Amino acid sequence: MSYNQRKRSFVADRKNNKTKHGHGGNQRNRFNSKSRSHKKDTIHPSRFIREAAPVAQENYEARHTFDDFKISELIKTNLAKKGYKLPSPIQDQAIPEILDGHDLIGIASTGTGKTAAFAIPVINKLVLLQDSKALIVAPTRELAQQIENECKQIGKGTGLFGALLIGGSSMPRQLRDLRDNPQIVIGTPGRIKDHLERQTLDLSNFDTVVLDEVDRMLDMGFINDMTQILSEMAPARQSLFFSATMDRRVSSLINKFSNSPIEISVKSSETSENVHQNVVQYKDYRHKIEQL
Ligand code: AMP
Repeated sequence: MSYNQRKRSFVADRKNNKTKHGHGGNQRNRFNSKSRSHKKDTIHPSRFIREAAPVAQENYEARHTFDDFKISELIKTNLAKKGYKLPSPIQDQAIPEILDGHDLIGIASTGTGKTAAFAIPVINKLVLLQDSKALIVAPTRELAQQIENECKQIGKGTGLFGALLIGGSSMPRQLRDLRDNPQIVIGTPGRIKDHLERQTLDLSNFDTVVLDEVDRMLDMGFINDMTQILSEMAPARQSLFFSATMDRRVSSLINKFSNSPIEISVKSSETSENVHQNVVQYKDYRHKIEQL
């Protein structure tokens, strides 16, 4: 049974049980036949499973098309190839400000198109100004890889060269890429700090920085790494911060390292309360990995 089939059938059963029995009592038996004799060890899944609530979508009318932006024709072609027809709200509002050279705070979560909102103008700047260099910092390897992927697609054919600095990937390759003087460096705070300490990365001539998911990086305890990284960059730089939430910690970091930033928020209508949750049974370790 595929994961999806399992998910659907379970959800359907759960709903039926709720209607019939209030607490889904039958489901407990089906789900875990030992539950009667081990009541204390069993928490019925329906107590902690929630379905993703649909996001209330406002009708947003984009003020720009990608053609309106003062970006290279090659980037426009690459966006069209990706199937991007119109800018998302964060792109519509942030791209012109970043192209004008402003510092920016984007309050936007995953799914809003925030990656392209910074990648498009940053790549355009790097293409125009060959001496310009950009650093993009993200909390996790996976996000850093996704950003790299998006940048590669948006910058395809521009001749831009980059390095991806993340844990768990080949150090010799990272060192080789850094020796080749990349114009764009994408990485996680810990690995970027490693390279700074080994003196294999010099940020003093990087004039653009993007901190993605600032709130998450703070939650993960990267405040010192982030502070060190920002302190080692060129003082005259453009700083872009993206965060799903804005609290005192986030704003104090941003205030310290930005210059009259423009704030753009697309948060309220874009984020689901929770992701879809479910419980999937497995027989043994191997089955667990397959299910995952
Ligand atoms: P992100 O919030 O950056 O993780 O992007 C979420 C998803 O939206 C990704 O799959 C993007 O490829 C896609 N996306 C971003 N911008 C656009 C756009 N203007 N049109 C269509 N899809 C987009």
